[in-house]
Amino acid sequence: MSDLETESLREKCGVFGIFGHPDAAAITALGLHALQHRGQEAAGIVAFDGRQFNSERRHGLVGDHFSNERVIKRLAGSASIGHVRYATTGETVLRNVQPLFAELEGGGFAVAHNGNFTNGLTLRRQLVRDGAICQSTSDTEVILHLVARSRKLRFVERFVESLRQIEGAYALVALTNKKLVGARDPLGIRPLVLGELNGRYILASETCALDIIGARFVRDIENGEVVIISESGIESLKPFAPQPARPCIFEYIYFARPDSVVNGRSVYDVRKRMGAELAAESPAEADVVVPVPDSGVPAALGYSQASGVPFELGIIRNHYVGRTFIQPSQAIREIGVRMKHSANRGVIEGKRVVLIDDSVVRGTTSVKIVQMMRDAGAKEVHFRIACPPITHPDYYGIDTPERDKLLAAQMDLEGMRAYMGADSLAFLSVDGIYRSMGLARRDPVRPQFTDHCFTGDYPTRLTDVLAESSPRQWAMLAEAS
Ligand code: AMP
Repeated sequence: MSDLETESLREKCGVFGIFGHPDAAAITALGLHALQHRGQEAAGIVAFDGRQFNSERRHGLVGDHFSNERVIKRLAGSASIGHVRYATTGETVLRNVQPLFAELEGGGFAVAHNGNFTNGLTLRRQLVRDGAICQSTSDTEVILHLVARSRKLRFVERFVESLRQIEGAYALVALTNKKLVGARDPLGIRPLVLGELNGRYILASETCALDIIGARFVRDIENGEVVIISESGIESLKPFAPQPARPCIFEYIYFARPDSVVNGRSVYDVRKRMGAELAAESPAEADVVVPVPDSGVPAALGYSQASGVPFELGIIRNHYVGRTFIQPSQAIREIGVRMKHSANRGVIEGKRVVLIDDSVVRGTTSVKIVQMMRDAGAKEVHFRIACPPITHPDYYGIDTPERDKLLAAQMDLEGMRAYMGADSLAFLSVDGIYRSMGLARRDPVRPQFTDHCFTGDYPTRLTDVLAESSPRQWAMLAEAS
């Protein structure tokens, strides 16, 4: 894939914002550090010091740049927003690193986005046709142009008018010379929380970003809610027609940090329950339960506790390599799996092993890990996956490859088992996932979560996908614009 394809398609990110604190940028850096799992490729902070906007955007980890005193000093101001960004392959050009900033009529405007606009390219084409000059290939830039073009008088009206034109998933934080603004899409697909530190308001993708700075969790920003934080306090708007929330289920399965509470549910507890449901649905005659670390650990604990099969750390993870997914090509990804995990032979040898992972995407990890168990002398390997087969790509800001690269879209269960080389293979059912959420089952008429990865049920229009069916076409469009 070209860089451009990657840049225009793959973003999964974390956002943070704080208003009215003398150390706004330093606090934002800490918050972003806690959100690092949501994006390891680049990070940025924009702060407003009462006179001007100060901006630093860098490739790499938050700690690589934003722990530097000089950098933080340059980010003077009592209000700031920040962003961590993730893309799977290729280099990100700095112009795509967020927060994005523009001087608009009425003052500066910075914005950071987690999610993906499913009509971003369509809007962008219209804007470019109308004379807009785009600086980045990021869909987020569309917001800057829409706000700039709005004829409404007040900033918030202009912002809301822009949101009305956008489809898809967004958790946004925006900063003007007077306000910190947060917004969550009408279905609340991506998470966004409100926190408070010594009377100052904070917005963050996850509660773990509040915990790191000792801030108090106030509440989730609701689906379709816009909050405006200023010297006069906090104001909430509900500009969209009300509808039931459909948060993304994948936040619970893989994406969010286990110590976060997302939409009122502890991610750790949900993951453990997924393991327990899996044990009930798909038991295995085995001697040890072994997680694929780190993401499989809570589900493996749940599986072990529910089944009575002892939990052992049969695979040790090297924490000094990035996530497998970040490796740019399949060949390198395969090496990456070996770099990342090694077998703890003493726990595996001569044993019947139940291996637990949270999900299977391309199947790269599964194949390597099963082989690793065999090489370490496992007598049997029973693979259990704590979510249903991922058969459909995501268009809402979680990185997944196109359909032809998704293992479960290419093979049936027996085909996958044979491909992985496991003695048995089972996935948690869709209703099993809902039971883990404390619900009786998936409501077929009004599903409680966004779960298209397993069901193909996309909850919003997919205007860009319908308009341009291949990623190459998308990339060419972005290039043309
Ligand atoms: P794969 O090797 O392609 O089957 O990927 C599966 C592994 O990647 C699992 O161990 C998951 O924990 C992890 N994973 C699942 N979804 C994602 C994602 N969107 N980004 C990065 N890693 C993921």
